[in-house]
Amino acid sequence: MRPSPALQAISESAVQSHEADEKHGDAMNWDELEFGVIPTDYMYIMKCSNGDNFSQGHLAPYGKIELSPFSGILNYGQGVLEGLKAIRTKDGRVQLFRPQENALRMKMSAERLCMPSPSTHQFLDALKQTVLANKRWVPPEGKGALYIRPLLIGSGPVLGLGPAPEYTFLIFATPVGNYHKRGSTMNLYIENEVRRATPGGTGGVKSITNYSPVFEVVTKARAKGFTDVLFLDAATGKNIEEVSSCNIFFVKDNVILTPRTSGTVLPGVTRKSIIEIARDRNYMVEERDVPLEDVLAADEVFCTGTAVEVTAVASITHQDKRIEYRTGEETVFHKLRVVLKEIQTGVVEDKMGWTVLID
Ligand SMILES: *Cc1c(COP(=O)(O)O)cnc(C)c1O
Repeated sequence: MRPSPALQAISESAVQSHEADEKHGDAMNWDELEFGVIPTDYMYIMKCSNGDNFSQGHLAPYGKIELSPFSGILNYGQGVLEGLKAIRTKDGRVQLFRPQENALRMKMSAERLCMPSPSTHQFLDALKQTVLANKRWVPPEGKGALYIRPLLIGSGPVLGLGPAPEYTFLIFATPVGNYHKRGSTMNLYIENEVRRATPGGTGGVKSITNYSPVFEVVTKARAKGFTDVLFLDAATGKNIEEVSSCNIFFVKDNVILTPRTSGTVLPGVTRKSIIEIARDRNYMVEERDVPLEDVLAADEVFCTGTAVEVTAVASITHQDKRIEYRTGEETVFHKLRVVLKEIQTGVVEDKMGWTVLID
């Protein structure tokens, strides 16, 4: 890979280690990619003081970052994240899917946690620079994607409870395989005790603090053979909200149903796109409370998210009752999944204006 002008400030040693991994990159077995951390070449960094706006960011060799032990992120969890993918098209180009949506969502999440955030323009520019600098890590068409993680943290030291004095915006990336290659259906377990989100809380934003509180129940469910946990609303315990990192949909008699996003459900970009594709194809889509009765009655269930894409739910277990659903190519969600995939991979013309080519 030839460094772009923006990369010319890279130190000699970084360039050498980059050449060393180039051999590794060439030896990469794209067929064995999973969802794990494979270090790539560069990351993007931009800092700003509290009360200021982000101004000048830059690429740096991918590596460790230094933080004060008193930093806001380490002590008070002041941090928000994003997740999106760069996908290689059939003709070998690289494109992003609706990255403006991630920029806007990060801004919304940051406001909730009292943090400054990069402008949409800064976010998109940083994203493009990071993907271009790591382009050799974007898997070949059909083999997966480059998963991109924008992260915004309170990096400055703070003791009294309150916002940190300094913020760091980072973007880093790692290649991941196709979710569908690995088994392709989910078996969910309805969690009765632990709640993911509460009214007035942070469930509707991508706050870092939302994730580790579900590790315990997800780990237990996995030990029993389930793929993931389905959470109920905290206020009544009667309605379905979402899975630990993806949204959920139900199909009954060709009507598509999904929990509304009014503070306790994360407004997923994949969720929004599936709703728009379904409505465009004249399906009726209802965004409302989804009580357990609708779970029992559904014909099909599927999950959506950047990581899981659109994945069939083969079963849901509630207490001792296991309900099974239709899967396979004759389903409603399969038709929607194909349309989404064709747009994301550039197989069909993107009439929605959702994709952003980066080279
Ligand atoms: C990120 C996330 C999703 C999916 O959002 P996408 O934008 O589709 O990737 C759903 N639920 C939770 C809790 C999430 O963190």
